[in-house]
Amino acid sequence: MLIIFDLDDTLIDTSGCITHYKLDDALRAMVGAGLDLPDYAESLDLLRRLDRTAESAGAALSEFIEITGSDKRFLEIGIKEIYDSFPADLPIFPLEGALELLADLAHHHQMALVTVGKSSQQMEKLKKAGIDSRIFSKIAVTEERNKKPHYQMIVDELGYSPSEVLVCGDRVPVDLIPARELGFKTVQMKWGRGLNSARQKGDVDYSITDLGELKSIVDSLMTFSSF
Ligand SMILES: [Mg+2]
Repeated sequence: MLIIFDLDDTLIDTSGCITHYKLDDALRAMVGAGLDLPDYAESLDLLRRLDRTAESAGAALSEFIEITGSDKRFLEIGIKEIYDSFPADLPIFPLEGALELLADLAHHHQMALVTVGKSSQQMEKLKKAGIDSRIFSKIAVTEERNKKPHYQMIVDELGYSPSEVLVCGDRVPVDLIPARELGFKTVQMKWGRGLNSARQKGDVDYSITDLGELKSIVDSLMTFSSF
């Protein structure tokens, strides 16, 4: 079987290790550029709360600008701060059980990684989290949010049929809907944005809150399928 993973908030704790701090950096950069806020700590708290339910950190910033009635020019400054620079000093941790799960699955399955972001940053995150990139047969890093062509290309290159592919990610619209459309099995990791990711009944095949649960899903798919 081919298992395709998302990276942020699926294998590594991006929300806890990066986003929490980057929102502070972004707000500071906006204030530095002239954004006037009555109370910094309160504003940061609001921004972090908005981020919990937003589709991305950029969307949270946009909502923040809207709510506080701030000039839209600050949005660009905040977004640049979030996405352009990578905090070299921040440690990044894998999600609990991620390393063990990957090592375990590697015995009997092929794995791939499809992640949204800048290539150098995503590879650095893998390294910092202690995930050996060689465990993946294919890695695709895309700056666009459309994962579908990457899923398709990987599956074609590795020679799997859709029924032999499972995708695990936290964001239903970005990670899992395109997988579903291609006929793959889908597992939502409920972490970070996955906790709030818009979901309708039937959007995904499985939902998990612990990565360890993926192993038994894969095992049961192997047992009840013909491959
Ligand atoms: Mg993710």
